Amino acid sequence: MNHETYLVPTGHRIDLADYDPGDTGPFRTKEDAFAKLQEDIEELARLQDILYAQNTYALLLIFQAMDAAGKDSTIKHVMSGVNPQGCQVYSFKTPSAEELDHDYMWRCMKALPERGRIGIFNRSYYEEVLVVRVHPEILEREQLPPESKGENLWKHRFEDINNIERYLARNGLVIRKFFLHVSKEEQKKRFLERIEKPAKNWKFSLVDVEERRHWEEYMDAYADMLSATSTAWAPWYIVPADHKWFTRAVVADVVVKTLRSLDLRYPESGEEHRRDLRRARDMLEAEH
Ligand code: ATP
Ligand code: MG
Repeated sequence: MNHETYLVPTGHRIDLADYDPGDTGPFRTKEDAFAKLQEDIEELARLQDILYAQNTYALLLIFQAMDAAGKDSTIKHVMSGVNPQGCQVYSFKTPSAEELDHDYMWRCMKALPERGRIGIFNRSYYEEVLVVRVHPEILEREQLPPESKGENLWKHRFEDINNIERYLARNGLVIRKFFLHVSKEEQKKRFLERIEKPAKNWKFSLVDVEERRHWEEYMDAYADMLSATSTAWAPWYIVPADHKWFTRAVVADVVVKTLRSLDLRYPESGEEHRRDLRRARDMLEAEH
């Protein structure tokens, strides 16, 4: 699979109409993609073990999408093979009163993965240029000084986000960002399913259908954000999301290729540690 197809080029104005949510790449069916996904899940587990042992890099995976695009299930499937000790998922909801009393990065900075870990942001500071842009009343609650609220607000947020991500990258944080691109028709189908199936009712809220009315505004905000914040150090991928099995395959592929591109290796024992190991073996063998 050529994951470059879904990579957003840096400094390029993208048009979401050029990206087909129904795309399934080289696969025709879920069964076609099954073996590749399994392989990637196993490889991810192997690489995560080294990432953890080496304790140098941290991997941050950011997921953004409209409701019902499959963020939760993608995270569940792609991470199914990894050791829970080395992985943490944060879901960012509407900010609390305490969070609103800080800059918008505050709560996210606190949630960044430690070295050796994989951190997943299910939504993120990108909401600050998405939902906040679509609903200006949210901005009012942020208590910003008037000089920060001019017409350059969004441009400044894009710049700040790029700079913060570059700072993090320079400190060993490897960042990959995924926009799960679902079509409006498919979202409707999934909402109806959430309403019809009692076991899925809990996932549905009336607000979700109200948000859907702002679909076009969201798509404009997404296109702007994707065009402005896909960088060499923190690239965006637009992942087709009308077929969940393909979404998983693309995300797993990108994560595995990213980890493979790092200089991952188990720490080598020094002379002293090797001597300790030999001594310990002798002691164990001398028992009884
Ligand atoms: P699901 O797909 O299961 O519905 P979800 O991620 O949509 O999961 P919800 O609790 O439904 O989870 O929604 C979280 C809500 O919080 C979203 O509507 C999102 O836009 C909002 N949110 C997240 N971050 C911010 C933010 N910084 N400012 C304002 N709203 C935010
Ligand atoms: Mg929701």
